Amino acid sequence: MNLPMEDAICAIATPCGEGGIGIIRISGDKAIEIASAHTRLRSGRSLFDVTSHTLYQADIFERPVEGPVEAGPSPISIDQGLVVVMRAPHSYTAEDVVEIHCHGGPIILHALCEALVASGVRLAQPGEFTKRAFLNGKLDLAQAEAVLETIRAKTTVGLRLAQEQLRGSLSKKLDGVRERLIRLLAHVEAAIDFAEEDISFIAREELLEALTALVCELSRLADTYREGRIFREGQTAVIVGRPNVGKSSLLNALLRTDRAIVTPVPGTTRDVLEETLNIRGIPIRLLDTAGIHETTDVVEQEGIRRSRTAIEHADLLLVLLDGSAPLPCDQEQIASRHQAQKLLLVINKTDLPTRLSFEALSDLSQRMAAESIVQISAKTGDGLDRLRDAIRNTLIGTDFEPGDTAVLTMLRHRTALLKAIEALNKARESVGSQLSGEFVALDLRGALDALGELTGATTTDDILERVFSEFCIGK
Ligand code: GDP
Repeated sequence: MNLPMEDAICAIATPCGEGGIGIIRISGDKAIEIASAHTRLRSGRSLFDVTSHTLYQADIFERPVEGPVEAGPSPISIDQGLVVVMRAPHSYTAEDVVEIHCHGGPIILHALCEALVASGVRLAQPGEFTKRAFLNGKLDLAQAEAVLETIRAKTTVGLRLAQEQLRGSLSKKLDGVRERLIRLLAHVEAAIDFAEEDISFIAREELLEALTALVCELSRLADTYREGRIFREGQTAVIVGRPNVGKSSLLNALLRTDRAIVTPVPGTTRDVLEETLNIRGIPIRLLDTAGIHETTDVVEQEGIRRSRTAIEHADLLLVLLDGSAPLPCDQEQIASRHQAQKLLLVINKTDLPTRLSFEALSDLSQRMAAESIVQISAKTGDGLDRLRDAIRNTLIGTDFEPGDTAVLTMLRHRTALLKAIEALNKARESVGSQLSGEFVALDLRGALDALGELTGATTTDDILERVFSEFCIGK
């Protein structure tokens, strides 16, 4: 939907519910005029004359107030707060923006919002402030998406990646690639235009070399999506093991320090329990399953069925063994795990005398193709740091350091990059098989369009709609 840009828009920018402060944001040509009708600065200054980006104490009115307050009977304010004007183009949206900071009560904020609407502003759609920032050239599309990523980051690493993108690391990289592509396209097109003349614009080898370098660079960037997605969306890990090996104790021990977002799923001890933790910057959905064993109890059977489903969908299996007991012979529950699943063998209860034989253990580790074996005591906390490192290294690897380079975190970006790579590869083939320049130019333009889709340089309305509808109102 194309919303008129000339409308002034407003929204409550702070979360709903009670809070110390609640902020209403207004953006657009009439922002100052309308805000000024609902506020009176304590200093007596007019909102039109205040210094930009400076907070002023103000009384806030539901009914518009005309002229200086002293002139007539004093209207009753609904709140006292602060007002700040951010003049175009030096604001988030590049338009005139006014923020009214009230007390954070829902009644005040909703009443004021309704009053502003009655005075002529429109309630903003989700993400409309950021969409205006994009349309007014303050941010490109990847940066606009990074605003949302910043708000939604689940760990500090996720936040760092989002901030990098917001600062433009991805956009800068792609701008560089686009520039090189445009230069190549210019050579190719010149060669088409002046085909009759005996001028050589770019040698075939040189063109091939340049295209290969671009493909390599974009492929490297596309590959970072594996790590980027893990840090952004997280992974699912399941603790598997026989009853009493210490599965719940391990979950609790990890939760004590790592709990990021608490999402307890109701259930009994026989059900699958789920918590979300922050392990070395990776949001991990950790599931504690019912021990898998033969039983005639129907409730337990259901718990075991759910455990099997959880195991099937996990990215990482933490197979827990009791180090103080001999190795059980049945470890069938994870025998049929699929290729992409990683597995760590975790030996618990190291505070007790060990009864696991080294040979049996390494044999089991080989049979299970475990990434590594970690010894812990869920009771004393010993080895938990090693376990966190092992989880991180198993899922991400040891080479990847977030913040080193631009990292892709969104599927939309990866899809656009793959499209660009495909077009460049087609161009390489055309050059290789000495097809006419028109074919090469067509593919180069295809690659440019795909990159433009990512940064927003060549975006369609439905892409914009999809991107901005994810946002909350007020952002
Ligand atoms: P689950 O059935 O696998 O979830 O096992 P629990 O977490 O309920 O633990 C079973 C028993 O083992 C409880 O009595 C725990 O206190 C005990 N336990 C768990 N972890 C440890 C550990 O590291 N050391 C010792 N000594 N006991 C533990």
